[in-house]
Amino acid sequence: MSEWVIDPVALPTVPVAGGRKFPVRRIFCVGRNYAAHAREMGADPDREPPFFFTKPADAVISSDRVPYPTATRALHFEMELVVAIGREAQSVAATQALDHVYGYAAGVDLTRRDLQDEAKSLRRPWDMSKGFDASAPIGPITPIAVSGHPSHGKITLSVDGVIKQSGHLADMIWPVPDIIVFLSKLVTLMPGDLIFTGTPDGVGAVERGSRIHGSVEGVGAVSFELV
Ligand code: MN
Repeated sequence: MSEWVIDPVALPTVPVAGGRKFPVRRIFCVGRNYAAHAREMGADPDREPPFFFTKPADAVISSDRVPYPTATRALHFEMELVVAIGREAQSVAATQALDHVYGYAAGVDLTRRDLQDEAKSLRRPWDMSKGFDASAPIGPITPIAVSGHPSHGKITLSVDGVIKQSGHLADMIWPVPDIIVFLSKLVTLMPGDLIFTGTPDGVGAVERGSRIHGSVEGVGAVSFELV
């Protein structure tokens, strides 16, 4: 008889460019990290400290087909640079923060915007608007040996070939080292953690059948159809 009372779940993974796999431990996300997007969400983009929310690790999906979720009529895309943590980080200094990064990927923070708007107005948590099944489509991780630490590339997303988001990593309110500084004071970052670093402006709704293609210059791409 197995010691397990139910079968242990398989570890969620993200492919790494070159064929190996990155095991996902947790997913952290930064809210409103580009000024123009903060304004389009009705917020003041002055340099308030970054805030974070999470998705379950098994929200990652690296597939050409992503299921349209239940319980929403306003599924929004948010194109983001994703940081893959390779080394434990606890209260690190900005000058050391990047030493804890394994690599980077292009990802989409899918959001049930209608449920998020309701949660905001009722002062309820965002979990069900952000952390649903398959809410984190992600492309292959590129190790820093190949990508370096991208800080000035273009970040873009198109829907059915039409550009919807076109931003620059340099426009992040809090760049990656600052994000790691703040987050590593709140939790001990561990190998396998992913950080979605926020989206530029131009977010919008997508429907079943939409083809979404996102890219981060110098990092990679993420591409899928909503089914
Ligand atoms: Mn986001």
